[in-house]
Amino acid sequence: MRLTNPYWFSYPGYNELLVGFNDDSVNSNEKEWNPNINLLEFLDQQEGFEDRVAAFASWDVFDWIINTERNDFTINSGGYPFYDEKLTPKQQWLNTFIEDVPSPWYGSAVRWDAFTFEYAFEYLKLNKPRFLYISFDETDEFAHQREYDKYLNTANRSDGYIKAIWDWTQSNEMYRGKTTMMITTDHGRGSYENGAWGSHGDGVPGAEFLWTAIIGPDTPAIGEMTNTDTIATSQLATTLGYLLGYDFISNQPVGHVVDPMVGLIK
Ligand SMILES: [Zn+2]
Repeated sequence: MRLTNPYWFSYPGYNELLVGFNDDSVNSNEKEWNPNINLLEFLDQQEGFEDRVAAFASWDVFDWIINTERNDFTINSGGYPFYDEKLTPKQQWLNTFIEDVPSPWYGSAVRWDAFTFEYAFEYLKLNKPRFLYISFDETDEFAHQREYDKYLNTANRSDGYIKAIWDWTQSNEMYRGKTTMMITTDHGRGSYENGAWGSHGDGVPGAEFLWTAIIGPDTPAIGEMTNTDTIATSQLATTLGYLLGYDFISNQPVGHVVDPMVGLIK
């Protein structure tokens, strides 16, 4: 699948993923309030979703991408303590030292994914959200540093986090057999050319190509799909909305549902 935005880096990619279209005014990684309506805030306004939507992200720019100025559901990002109405003992313990663990990347903008995972997983078990968004970051940082061994290690660790969350949902009465998990990225990294692997952006051919995996009761298990029509990141928010029973509407036209992901295979 591919990005429809022409920038091939994070904020425009996450915007496209979460709001369902490319917006040319969203073209930097600066901390600017996202003007577009994302899937989380759309769901937050649906009956039965109040206080049942949450986002956890390693990169602190997510406060602007998902927009904490306009929204009051839980959005927790960056290297700062997590404040919420209810906290588990583990979350309270993480809060006591997160600011003592400085990020090695971009000053203090990005926290270690272990914090994001633990805060989010605890939140899931405590609050039972109906829509939970989690954004990890370490693979991108290690790739930029061209530390391939650490990149592989952190990808493997991310796999473990994903497995832990999925296994928990399948062991919990409320979620078992009723939960869909989607995994994707905000951009690709292109192909390895002239030893240049590591970065992305419009100067890296192929960085617009990425992948998505999805598992859940409404999605047929048809394995890896190749040689299909190209799917765009702008279609994923609509697809998740559809799986929850909603026609996702934003402030601009959104991409259409990815048929094979929702069992509509002709
Ligand atoms: Zn990057």
